[in-house]
Amino acid sequence: MPTTSQEWQLAARPVGRPAPGDFRLVERELPPLTEGEVLVHNRFLSVDPYMRALMGTEHSGSPAYQLGRPMSGGAVGEVMESRSARFAPGDLVLSDLGWRTAAVAPAARFTERERIADVPDSAYLGVLGMPGLSAYVGLTEIAGLRAGDAVFVSGAAGAVGSLAGQIARLRGAAAVYGSAGSTEKVAYLTDTLGFTAAFDYKDGDVRDRLAEIAPHGIDVCFDNVGGEHLEAAIDLLNRDGRVALCGAVSEYNATTEPRGPRNMTELVKKRLTLRGFEVGDHAALRPRFEREVAQWLTAGQLVFRETVEDGIDRAVEAFLGMMDGRSVGKMLVRL
Ligand code: NAP
Repeated sequence: MPTTSQEWQLAARPVGRPAPGDFRLVERELPPLTEGEVLVHNRFLSVDPYMRALMGTEHSGSPAYQLGRPMSGGAVGEVMESRSARFAPGDLVLSDLGWRTAAVAPAARFTERERIADVPDSAYLGVLGMPGLSAYVGLTEIAGLRAGDAVFVSGAAGAVGSLAGQIARLRGAAAVYGSAGSTEKVAYLTDTLGFTAAFDYKDGDVRDRLAEIAPHGIDVCFDNVGGEHLEAAIDLLNRDGRVALCGAVSEYNATTEPRGPRNMTELVKKRLTLRGFEVGDHAALRPRFEREVAQWLTAGQLVFRETVEDGIDRAVEAFLGMMDGRSVGKMLVRL
């Protein structure tokens, strides 16, 4: 039974790319349980791009990480001890009490998740979790994907992008194009995930590369990257095209104001729709999403990859590696 927790705290607000020295790992005694509380030992921690925003000021209404306090983030853990009727030892739970090995907290902070045969528990942080739901919501609700659409996914080899591309294919897209940051990732998109074609955005001009692989243009863009990728997508979109603005990871470490797309008049000429979304606003879709994705997983129609770092002391490296493009699929920390 853990009596202490090791937890990561923000020691300083990063400027530009975070440095290991901006974080501190501390050990704390866990308090004894009071009525209604549970003790959870985390098994997997999630590291996600939105955390970079929380290291600064705030993110979509969520408060910034406080200096010298434990950071929050997705975590899957096991109940070790319970003084709540809702949970028993051994239950698998999801929480936002990540970046730490263990936590004592009120039962309301945890959600029970079912163990699914042949699907690792970590999937609740990726394919069956927030990134998966983001891909599903962005394509189906925000971009209004229709069978026959040609779809472009930027940042396609990551947690969200790799699922967005596959969901587009499974929902009848005529073609699925992707961009990623290495030749290995490009091969993963076309050879394993079934993308029609993909390009390495570090190898040439993004607009030219997209035009080469999508000669008939695109109808939908699922944008994870922003900047040059968004500008290229606007150029290549066909009339009545739609963009789901999921994120702009190319700008998260920027120290100067990012440049906006220079081709905004294309929106008028081509009657385009660009719509941003926050996955947290779409929790009502979770049951439908989980049912559909679980079926695709069981049928072997949807695959996913995880990049795993072992040990709480590797969490900062995992976060930095994910931001630097060293992960394929979902980046996780295993405890
Ligand atoms: P991820 O794609 O697994 O990891 C981030 C990836 O971004 C890196 O691995 C890297 O891959 C790429 N990247 C980093 N800097 C880049 C740059 N300058 N230009 C192009 N690509 C760059 O992360 P994720 O969790 O799936 O998130 C993807 C996007 O979705 C992020 O923008 C995130 O903020 C957003 N998101 C939004 C919501 C929402 O509710 N709207 C929810 C979840 C995630 P490469 O090797 O390809 O460069």
